[in-house]
Amino acid sequence: MAVESEHLETLAIHAGQAPDPVSGAVMTPIVLASTFAQDGPGVHKGFEYARTGNPTRNTLERCIAALEAGTHGLAFSSGCAAMTTLLHTLRPGDHVVASDDVYGGSFRILDKVMRPLGIETTQVDMGDPANVEAAMTDATKLLWIETPTNPMLKLVDIAAVAKVGRARGAIVVVDNTFATPMLQRPITLGAHAVVHSMTKYLNGHSDVVGGVIVTNDDAFAERLRFLQNSIGAVSSPFDSYMVLRGLKTLPVRMERHCASAGTLAAWLEGQDNVEKVIYPGLDSHPQKALAASQMNGFGGMISFVVRGGLPAASALLAAVRVFCCAESLGGVESLIEHPAIMTHGSVPAAARAELGIDDGLIRISVGLEAVDDLRDDLANALAAAAAT
Ligand SMILES: *Cc1c(COP(=O)(O)O)cnc(C)c1O
Repeated sequence: MAVESEHLETLAIHAGQAPDPVSGAVMTPIVLASTFAQDGPGVHKGFEYARTGNPTRNTLERCIAALEAGTHGLAFSSGCAAMTTLLHTLRPGDHVVASDDVYGGSFRILDKVMRPLGIETTQVDMGDPANVEAAMTDATKLLWIETPTNPMLKLVDIAAVAKVGRARGAIVVVDNTFATPMLQRPITLGAHAVVHSMTKYLNGHSDVVGGVIVTNDDAFAERLRFLQNSIGAVSSPFDSYMVLRGLKTLPVRMERHCASAGTLAAWLEGQDNVEKVIYPGLDSHPQKALAASQMNGFGGMISFVVRGGLPAASALLAAVRVFCCAESLGGVESLIEHPAIMTHGSVPAAARAELGIDDGLIRISVGLEAVDDLRDDLANALAAAAAT
């Protein structure tokens, strides 16, 4: 018995899930077995060996597929494993066009893992779809879109870029980690596939590393399923269970992340030693109109530049008490970090400068604590930064 709904709040709790037929257990069991009994050679209940398929993982894959408006979900041991597996659909000589400020680890895979294998990437500012069109060649087989981007929170018009990619026969992939399906569903806007680091908002509790690919393209899904089984970087049963559990509260979590981030972004803009605040919901964001039309909320991530460069940024990061200085994002707890040194340390200095990732840039992931406590914590930390 599958619950059907057009509402993501209901799908997050029920999609792909039914009480366990053996025990009636209301929540999906964690099936740890690595192998499954066959009544005779090749006669089985749909499971043979757990790298190929596992009931807990399959349930997660169905649930996230439904949330992302896809028909196939594939869960991996990390977001990077999901991305690397997807890029193995390419061949030497193929070309990728990617957003210019993609997640640091995504840049590293494209530049240091795929390029030596003969798969070149051109990075462009996808804010203008014409840049994508201009960067595409006859060899371009894949577009890698990230929106909002990390850490500059630039937006890409998914529908416009997907149109450009599809017209030239390229597979269009969106890294939807920052927005989650609660805020935007790229497959409904023309993307072939969505990739997530489940480590972030989907799991939401900073206690799992995982990744997922969702697509509604049957042929692409078959190829991905082959690669998922062949390469073998699958999500474990326990991690799959944890993310399935996290997904159930994704809709209410995202509502609060967005509300608190909106409050803090507006407040930060009024602070003397804050040079600039980057948040898609602010009037000062050049793409606020696109954010309002493409997204159902402006997200839980804020970047801002503190006056005083590295010394001020370091003092600020050392002074926080509620925010925790750490990489990553999307958990219930608020995190704060310094992209130039931490998450984007692997991006060459010249490229960082071009993107605006300077020494005063700070990125925060707004958690679910009382927004007053978060504001007071930032106020104290900004005072410490001003004293440097
Ligand atoms: C974290 C992250 C990744 C990589 O995911 P892992 O689970 O850390 O491997 C990819 N894209 C974005 C936008 C991320 O934030």
